[in-house]
Amino acid sequence: MLNNRELFLLNTAQTSNSPRMIEIAKAEGVYLYGPNGEEYMDLVSGFNVSNIGHRNPKVIQAIKDQLEKYLHVTVYGEFVQAPQVEFATDLLAVLPKQFESVYFTNSGAEAVEGSMKVAKRFTGRRQIIAAKKAYHGSTQGALSLIGNEEYHTAYAPLLPEIEFITFNNSDDLSLITEKTAAVIIEAIQGEAGVRVPDISYMQALRKRCNETGTLLVFDEIQTGFGRTGKLFAFEHYDIVPDILMLAKGIGGGMPLGAFVASKQVMDVIKDNPMLGHITTFGGHPVSCAAAKASLEVIRENQLVEQVAEKEQLFRTLLQHPKIIEIRGKGLMMCLQLETFDQVYNVSNYCAQQGIMIDWYLHCETALRVAPPLTITNDEIEKACKIILDGIEKYT
Ligand code: PLP
Repeated sequence: MLNNRELFLLNTAQTSNSPRMIEIAKAEGVYLYGPNGEEYMDLVSGFNVSNIGHRNPKVIQAIKDQLEKYLHVTVYGEFVQAPQVEFATDLLAVLPKQFESVYFTNSGAEAVEGSMKVAKRFTGRRQIIAAKKAYHGSTQGALSLIGNEEYHTAYAPLLPEIEFITFNNSDDLSLITEKTAAVIIEAIQGEAGVRVPDISYMQALRKRCNETGTLLVFDEIQTGFGRTGKLFAFEHYDIVPDILMLAKGIGGGMPLGAFVASKQVMDVIKDNPMLGHITTFGGHPVSCAAAKASLEVIRENQLVEQVAEKEQLFRTLLQHPKIIEIRGKGLMMCLQLETFDQVYNVSNYCAQQGIMIDWYLHCETALRVAPPLTITNDEIEKACKIILDGIEKYT
């Protein structure tokens, strides 16, 4: 009889030759638990999903309540489903008034797909501009925006008429022209190793998009829902994008994504042809019920307001000559080391000591630190001590 680890390798598709293989039996709050009682403090948050921690009681209750009513009933956009309507209303209430309409998807990549289509239809243009080192998802449209040549070559042909600019480089903004339907950009680049742009860059980008009639589409799939110390990272730049893409932390641990825009922009998918963007499961009622509860948890517990102080505690404690740089904003942080071997060994050591950390898709020389926003100061102190021990031993 094979065990779960063996069956994992045998029966489930592998995405790399070196999966972490940590078996999870349960997750609660800031902790993950293995089948033999192993305990890991989670500093990855399922890649910026578990902003309110795992299995928040209010979210679990909302899921149970919805389970008693209905699961899937029909494709998105036909029936009036209270969880969708109520969560869309709550979400719009915490966004600037320019945002008037929410389209629910299953995932981040699908929010990207929908946004690209809406931008092309609304502007009547075909060119889309993305940033080098960007990551927006793995479907073929979203992958076309990846700023990494290796993936373009491996999965060619991807979408035509995609151009790339250098992130946080104002000189490249002149490449945005009257031909550009949309600039799709992460509010803070995540998988590039947490690159925080200058406020002046984001403001210049907004200005250039205004001048050229280009839609500015912000990917807040990693940065949304309090992660960076604001409910949404665009608030740091004092600008408002035209389309906001959300996923990951939106659902309190349930699968959900969304793109949000003005009614005028969103309306283009309604006709010529009708049903221009549809999904069977997007906005699943259980996910939307969880998302509504999750947003309430964030707001009622003032989680966003505590992020800057927690960031500061990490930054104060994580002092070591081998940490080249700590990048990031709020609890979306990265510790730059020198080599992947160092990162790999330190993260393995941390896992053995009960601390889960990781690295980045396009930056394997940096450690990912992105705990649930609910992490306490004592837990931060414990985690930092173990990370420093690991760095001391393996660098
Ligand atoms: N955008 C960003 C910035 C991401 O980090 C990701 C996933 O990691 C995505 C989009 C794609 O989201 P999903 O994996 O839900 O399709």
